Amino acid sequence: MRGAEARAHCPRCDEEVSIDRPWGGWIWARRLWFVVLGVFLMLFPFMSADYVCMIPTFMLVVFASGPLFHLAGLKATCRRCRLELDART
Ligand SMILES: [Zn+2]
Repeated sequence: MRGAEARAHCPRCDEEVSIDRPWGGWIWARRLWFVVLGVFLMLFPFMSADYVCMIPTFMLVVFASGPLFHLAGLKATCRRCRLELDART
């Protein structure tokens, strides 16, 4: 969750500033995505028999990777100048 008290040093502002942190759950969601993908790959021989449910669900999982990986890669930003800060905490 976004911490109201999260602060970090911003090199552009050259002082301690409050930061916006991305939700930490996106990292776990990305790990879960790999697990789900692995399960689907193991079930791949059975998918050809189920065109109605398995293949559309598999495509949904594959297309979710773009926005999910984007969200999981977000860094904390300075609230004043929006500079990305390396600190995840
Ligand atoms: Zn700044």
